Amino acid sequence: MENRSFAKKSDIKIILVMLAVALVLFAGLLIHQGSASGNLWAVVDTPNGQYRLDLSKVQSTSHIDLNSICGIPATLEAEPNRCRVINVDCPDHICEGFGWLEASRQTATCMPNRFVVGIYTESELGTRLTNAADITEKLE
Ligand SMILES: [Zn+2]
Repeated sequence: MENRSFAKKSDIKIILVMLAVALVLFAGLLIHQGSASGNLWAVVDTPNGQYRLDLSKVQSTSHIDLNSICGIPATLEAEPNRCRVINVDCPDHICEGFGWLEASRQTATCMPNRFVVGIYTESELGTRLTNAADITEKLE
């Protein structure tokens, strides 16, 4: 009888500990989701510099000529909250094959031209949001 009630008490303890762990995990999940917030930005990493583009400011299909900005023979096509690489002179066109980048942390890489386009939320960008040159104004 005494053993049984002791077992029940420890069961309750285990349940409480599990609940506490679940709560901590849930809170962590909420905080993590909160950190991936803010506008989506396209970031272009090239041997000649790093550039950023605010995809939330894109109203309709528009383009940025990367050749005139950083000597990369490619065009960035942007639509509201997404972008893709087009008109590249590389032999394989794998970078174009990535298609539309529209979710945070999606990337398109062009090995021959040594550049990467990725999209990130403001919070994921961290210091790159201030270090990369803003080319949002160059959209046309
Ligand atoms: Zn390519």
